Amino acid sequence: MASDPHVDGYGSAIRRRDNTAGRDLSYPPLPEPLTVPVYDNHTHLEIADGEHPLGYREQLDRASSVGVRGVIQVGGDVETSRWSAAAALIEPRMLAAVAIHPNEAPALETAGALDDALAVINELAGQPRVVAVGETGLDFFRTPEEGRAAQFRSFEAHIRIAKEHNLALQIHDRDAHEAVIETLLRVGAPERTVFHCFSGDADMARLCAGQGWYMSFAGNVTFKNAQGLRAALWEAPRNLLLVETDAPFLTPLPYRGRPNAPYLLPNTLRGMAAHLETDVSMLAAQITANTELVYGRWDAEPVTADHDEQHPDQTPRGGLA
Ligand SMILES: [Zn+2]
Repeated sequence: MASDPHVDGYGSAIRRRDNTAGRDLSYPPLPEPLTVPVYDNHTHLEIADGEHPLGYREQLDRASSVGVRGVIQVGGDVETSRWSAAAALIEPRMLAAVAIHPNEAPALETAGALDDALAVINELAGQPRVVAVGETGLDFFRTPEEGRAAQFRSFEAHIRIAKEHNLALQIHDRDAHEAVIETLLRVGAPERTVFHCFSGDADMARLCAGQGWYMSFAGNVTFKNAQGLRAALWEAPRNLLLVETDAPFLTPLPYRGRPNAPYLLPNTLRGMAAHLETDVSMLAAQITANTELVYGRWDAEPVTADHDEQHPDQTPRGGLA
């Protein structure tokens, strides 16, 4: 990870995915374009991946060429949330979500810096083209017991920020279904609440449906061992379905393990349509309508100016991809 915010060694990205696992680092080929366009409602273009990382504009150009019309760019700490908000301000195909990731909250709390970080998120949430608070939530997989109080406190604060600014909430829930649901019900979920990378089973899909919570499926829904997830997909009402890449992670089949990117969203969408025994274009149209209901239209708030006319301080770090 690049810790110096001024370092720009990876195109326009400010983070670098750990590549020590011996993966295939080549980007998969472009899929056949979709007839009906969709949006990727959760991606991390600030994280560089691959042998030859792609800048965010190249990423979005590739996405556009296969019918992925736009993305929600998601931050996970102060720096990446600032980057996301700044990039969305100058890039018409990008809207932003801002948050402190649940796995970042405990260390900030220990350092006495969580409240300051939340104050920055609250400020960013008020900016144009910031349409969601996320990803926030609970992660009992990566955070040990002693960090959980900080996670709860941070999650509850994010719920309040989302409601205060009337923004959608994007939830990260890893091995914490019951606690996430309990927190949402106790604090009061925002009107538009999205489980990013939905990981529950059919029962949880029914519960979410009862609350009107959206379920966003990622590339792992195509994995061979994901029968439980596909059962949840089958159970989820179509009007609550969303699709995402969570790029550069969770690359759909047949490219599992290789760098993921928004242009690979059609692979996930096609996998979902096949499982649901429905037409890809019908599903795309439904999901696009859902996405615009949750976040609004991508052109609802204009970009501020052309990229190249921006003062450097207002662009994402090293933003000229
Ligand atoms: Zn994510």
